[in-house]
Amino acid sequence: MKSEPFRTRAMRPLVAAVICAFALPLGGPPAASGYQLVGGATFRWPPQLDAVPYWVANRDDNWMTVEDVVTETRAAMNTWDQIAQADLTLSYQGLTNQRPFDFFDRTNTVGFSTREHLRELGLSEATLSVTSWLNFVGTGHIAESDILVNPAFNWTDTPERGGWDYRSLMVHEVGHFLGLGHSNVGRDAGDGLLAGSAIMWPYSFGSMSSLGRTLTDDDIAGISVLYPGPARETGAISGIVRRDGVGVSHAHVTAFEPHAGHTVGAWADAAGRFELGGLVPGRYVVRANPIPETHPAGAYFFSHAVVDRDFQVTILPRFVVVRRDEATEVEIEVLP
Ligand SMILES: [Zn+2]
Repeated sequence: MKSEPFRTRAMRPLVAAVICAFALPLGGPPAASGYQLVGGATFRWPPQLDAVPYWVANRDDNWMTVEDVVTETRAAMNTWDQIAQADLTLSYQGLTNQRPFDFFDRTNTVGFSTREHLRELGLSEATLSVTSWLNFVGTGHIAESDILVNPAFNWTDTPERGGWDYRSLMVHEVGHFLGLGHSNVGRDAGDGLLAGSAIMWPYSFGSMSSLGRTLTDDDIAGISVLYPGPARETGAISGIVRRDGVGVSHAHVTAFEPHAGHTVGAWADAAGRFELGGLVPGRYVVRANPIPETHPAGAYFFSHAVVDRDFQVTILPRFVVVRRDEATEVEIEVLP
């Protein structure tokens, strides 16, 4: 890192801690929607950083050995590193005796901490894991990020034999580590998430499942918008969601390309404006939906007060054509 993040007066700790909830039974109709950039397109590791370094916490008091934790953490990091559409390098530095959430230590620490430490931090015992960041106030770029995993669960690298899949959890958390928020592209069976749901969906696939190891189009679109790479040959759909002529705050918009089955989503801002980036060129079905009633606004880092759920799911009555390096503008008029 070229700059000196920890001595600048502009630095302040970011308060946004990302807490990944349980595989809660959500019920309700299938929801579709999309990737989220936590603080906009600048909330990412600095572009001048050649590689993002990370360390693994040197703890062996869990069900997994330290060697297994290192192997699975690196596999999860590589899952994002390998995306051709994103210009991103993540570099393993070794074990550390620092704890995750010991900030200002210049060590991006990933892995287990103790139950006592979770209590000190005020985290619920039901928390699977948490990612947090420090960022530069001026640029929004990330200066440091740690991922803390709760040792109270029986984590494993072979979930088919029982236990919680460490790698699935880590793939999700690394998405946060890189600056992604939560996606609303997903389907829920009432007692767990179904295959095809975005990795950045805010709820776990549950124990005994390794479904969360594979990124979806929505996750890849999100990371390619944050870290645009040379192989990115995509376009965008931008526009506004309106009801009675007024922008709908935090509506969710999804683009679905039926030929290849790509689904990517994005969130409108408080004025109803949205941009769906990272879209492979093609003809898309575009729809707007409110956040499902069963999902708290906080699961997407929004305040309850600003989320407008008072409109019907609306599908544009025509295909929207997406071309490479262009943004196609649309207006979606929704009914209350
Ligand atoms: Zn999460």
